[in-house]
Amino acid sequence: MTQTSHSEIHGGLCGVAGRLPGEVLAPGMDGYAEAAAALFATGTPDLVVRPPDEDGVAAALRHATSAGMAVTVRSGGHSMAGLSTHTGGMVIDLRNLCGVEVLDLPGRRVRVGAGATWGAVADALAPYGLGLTAGDTREVGVGGLTLGGGIGWLVRRHGLAVDNLAAAELVTADGERVRADAGHHGDLFWALRGGGGNFGVVTSFEFVAQPVTTVHFGTIGYECADPRSLIARWRDLVRDGDENLTTILNLMPSAVMLQCCYDGPDAEAALRPYRALAPVTADTVRAMPYADVLESCPALPPGARMEMRNALVPALDDATIEGAADLLADGAMVTLRSLGGAVARVAPDATAYAHRDAEALVIAGVMVPSGAPQRIATAPLARWSAIADRSRGAYVNFLGTATGADVARVYPPDTYRRLAEVKRGYDPGNVFRRTHNVAPARG
Ligand SMILES: Cc1cc2nc3c(=O)[nH]c(=O)nc-3n(C[C@H](O)[C@H](O)[C@H](O)COP(=O)(O)OP(=O)(O)OC[C@H]3O[C@@H](n4cnc5c(N)ncnc54)[C@H](O)[C@@H]3O)c2cc1C
Repeated sequence: MTQTSHSEIHGGLCGVAGRLPGEVLAPGMDGYAEAAAALFATGTPDLVVRPPDEDGVAAALRHATSAGMAVTVRSGGHSMAGLSTHTGGMVIDLRNLCGVEVLDLPGRRVRVGAGATWGAVADALAPYGLGLTAGDTREVGVGGLTLGGGIGWLVRRHGLAVDNLAAAELVTADGERVRADAGHHGDLFWALRGGGGNFGVVTSFEFVAQPVTTVHFGTIGYECADPRSLIARWRDLVRDGDENLTTILNLMPSAVMLQCCYDGPDAEAALRPYRALAPVTADTVRAMPYADVLESCPALPPGARMEMRNALVPALDDATIEGAADLLADGAMVTLRSLGGAVARVAPDATAYAHRDAEALVIAGVMVPSGAPQRIATAPLARWSAIADRSRGAYVNFLGTATGADVARVYPPDTYRRLAEVKRGYDPGNVFRRTHNVAPARG
């Protein structure tokens, strides 16, 4: 058998550049290093392909499968689990599939390329008086966030991003183009709403956008001697509160801040009880265009990383609040995102995002400086299980890892079984395994 030399492989990969549509980058080529890297991961893929359109995606996929190359799909490149790049195989980078089109203004129907960022979407829809409830960060991609569910600033009023999804177009593992909606490939449409990147390369999404122009947005800072009591009083307000208001309570050892986004007729009345929660140290809440609510991704110090945990809790009961306060005392940052409202009105089996009855998403994180020993990451989170054990499970998009145990926390057994059946139908060879992976059902 003849040995293939490194230069032959390299020459072969570079040769692909002429055959696949769009930009194709292999190790050693200009731009490769930037294309190979991602925010939360390093990797050296054999190829990074940036197709110009859906046919280019299909061509890239056919090439990868026929050459036996593993495939990573990247939209915005913000996977916290480091799934935006890998070593070996092909990264299909969808940055060129980023169009935002209003298909039907009275019906508020919009088509968004999977490679668009949420900041660009907000900017493009604003002139039409429209917006989409999605993430809080401009640079995060439409593809990854939507396929995991999508918890945004209007979540209590309008639900998850997937609750506003009307259709998706994708290229399946065998290079076929498929449109999934309520009437076509309904099983696939169910799976795409929370089941992640397991079923194909989604090239575009059709959403029903929300009519939204000006919202009240900003942060209220509190003096906080007693985090337990503050969290309990915030929970009570949210439980009884106006769904036009979505709030996120951020607790750090040095400060406590409530981020607020209100889209309704009387911001003053809706926010009044929150302004009375504790002595206020700062209040930046003001009217602004919805498109300005999304903020840029915060930069970490060079080499630093975030160690994260998350749990969807059915209730912020006393034990869960105690657990959050303990983590804070141990030095972790704790974020509580209010859910309920429109999210909870969707049946748990209506989409692959199943933990519909969660009252809140609890996130705990530690910033780990470059080169710091592992105990810096783990010690402040040592008491995390007090919260995880009381939770329904986890939110896939905020997971820092992608183990089988993670996947089991995201999908309850019935949801997982159904996802595995859909997977068998559309990706029986598990081409899309560089994901929070659902294995195809056997049989
Ligand atoms: C700073 C920051 C803020 C965030 N804020 C929020 C928030 O407010 N709400 C929220 O819900 N989430 C939020 N997230 C989490 C975010 O939803 C996930 O990190 C998500 O995976 C990012 O999507 P992406 O397209 O940028 O990532 P990518 O790394 O491009 O994609 C992640 C994974 O999704 C799959 N995938 C992506 N695109 C496609 C596609 N087109 N077809 C098939 N599979 C695909 C692939 O498996 C890929 O590995 C935030 C993340 C960060 C880093």
